[in-house]
Amino acid sequence: MRKYEFDGVIIGAGHNALVMAGYLAKSGLKVAVLERTAFVGGGAGTFPSPFHPGFVHEYHSQFHRAIPSLPWYKDLDLDNYGLEYIYPPVNNGMPLSDGRNLIVHADPEITKKSIARFSKKDAETYFKIYHKYADMGRKIWFVRDYSPPIHPDEEEELLKKSQVGREFLELNKKSAHEMVHELFENDALRAFYLFLFSVRGYLPVPTVKNTGFSIVAMTVMGNKAMLPRGGARQLTNALSWMVARHNGTFFPATEVAEIIIENGRAAGVEAVDGRKFMAKKFVVSSVDPTQTFLRFISEKHLDSAIIEGIKNYKYGISGKSFGVLFALHAATHEPPHYTSAKWDPMINQAFNTCVGYETPEEVVGHLSEVMEGTPTEHLGIQCAVPTLFDPSRSPNGKHVLLAWQFAPYSIKDGGPEQWEKIKDQYLEKVLARWAEYAPNLDPNGKNIIYKFSQTPPDTERHLINMREGDFHVGALIPEQLGYNRPIPQLSGYKAPIDNLYLTGAGTHPGGNITGAPGYNAAQVVIRDLGMEVWWNPPDPRKDWSEMD
Ligand SMILES: Cc1cc2nc3c(=O)[nH]c(=O)nc-3n(C[C@H](O)[C@H](O)[C@H](O)COP(=O)(O)OP(=O)(O)OC[C@H]3O[C@@H](n4cnc5c(N)ncnc54)[C@H](O)[C@@H]3O)c2cc1C
Repeated sequence: MRKYEFDGVIIGAGHNALVMAGYLAKSGLKVAVLERTAFVGGGAGTFPSPFHPGFVHEYHSQFHRAIPSLPWYKDLDLDNYGLEYIYPPVNNGMPLSDGRNLIVHADPEITKKSIARFSKKDAETYFKIYHKYADMGRKIWFVRDYSPPIHPDEEEELLKKSQVGREFLELNKKSAHEMVHELFENDALRAFYLFLFSVRGYLPVPTVKNTGFSIVAMTVMGNKAMLPRGGARQLTNALSWMVARHNGTFFPATEVAEIIIENGRAAGVEAVDGRKFMAKKFVVSSVDPTQTFLRFISEKHLDSAIIEGIKNYKYGISGKSFGVLFALHAATHEPPHYTSAKWDPMINQAFNTCVGYETPEEVVGHLSEVMEGTPTEHLGIQCAVPTLFDPSRSPNGKHVLLAWQFAPYSIKDGGPEQWEKIKDQYLEKVLARWAEYAPNLDPNGKNIIYKFSQTPPDTERHLINMREGDFHVGALIPEQLGYNRPIPQLSGYKAPIDNLYLTGAGTHPGGNITGAPGYNAAQVVIRDLGMEVWWNPPDPRKDWSEMD
């Protein structure tokens, strides 16, 4: 069986692995990236329609946020690889059943006007937060996410030293639910904020403490959703071309079965077909911690506390947090025409549209049902029509539609298998819910060309690291966040085996298309190898000590 040799081997080719490979390859290291599926890109990978040539669908990430402003975009020269982001001005919209709607626009002045039609006080509050806290987000949230995690006690001590740090700690003590009630008086706006909070997969129900700042972050960042021309795969295409240009090698259709450990150090990996990929300097796993520690490594190399910790690591709903979705994919002749366009026509141009949640109680109620293992009958869906902004995704001016409903992976009565029995019926319900607000989506009308579902088990079948369909690859609960991710013994991207490193959504700061786990882990490897960190990563110890 063939044997290869590289400086380093990376398991998985999602965007985090590629960001990390980009830094390591640009540092002059000879890197190999091994991917189980036939495609590079993981959850940033667009797929052709199973029914009609010319249409493409996102089975994973649809909404990318502020990507060209992230440090790795510039460090890895992604502008040179044909990647182009489109920034829809009407960033978020929420139609209401009474015919009104709320808009979050890229221009905060326009958002303020939309909110003012519901509450002048809330409009002023929105505007104040938008400007006041942008700086806090950059100085604290960004620095925390884009650097290896530090112990929460040290983090608190550092933040307490400055006025802005103390204010952050105070804001964050509250729950997201308390925060929206404290800040805003209008129920629709409160629901809108809680929806934006939930769809990022943050923590269990929004009533959990220490989530307050997320609402402020949603105000500042909530209008920055964007999409790459051609689909999410264009981001990972650009990253992989960059890695290849720096002598990186890709092995698709290569499922890793084992990490080879020789003399106590990670010496390479073995694929399921027996090929060996030896690594002189490092092995990185970007996949779920369960595969890394319970599948790839023999128990005899691991401390029992690590084995126990990983066995208790929780995914999705079983972790009582949200990162599990049921998706409707469809193609239509026309985009949705909302009844509430009479109130404000901008709703027809919204990128990220929240349909069906109208009060904070509804948001919390839906999420509680899902947590109990019930596919909710009171649907509240997140919708997008990417072809409004990127006509390259469909032929002849037709449209591609996507709607997500939070859903349990395992249904209370019947388990995950139950989805096969109910998925067609549930798909109709999702579409019918959308059509209540946009009647030209009537499931029995002529507008729909085709439609199909993606259940939580489908997500897991496609990307096996998204266990239980969890797009964060591990629940975002306090015990599994920051310094604790995936477990405290494995904090900071290093495994307790020489030359073995971790990255991916199962490490700090978790899932979504942020590239942060890959960016942070690259720094750790380069420092361990005694090489120069040629980029300029934030440093919380320094940056937070210098805040006013
Ligand atoms: C339905 C859905 C909607 C989403 N929407 C959004 C969104 O709008 N915005 C957003 O920011 N994020 C979204 N996400 C989340 C986002 O896709 C993930 O958080 C992100 O892809 C994680 O990136 P990663 O690089 O850590 O891992 P992944 O992208 O999961 O990549 C890991 C790779 O490892 C491979 N792999 C697994 N096991 C092995 C093995 N044994 N050997 C070799 N390779 C292996 C997998 O095939 C995969 O390609 C969504 C996800 C889903 C499922």
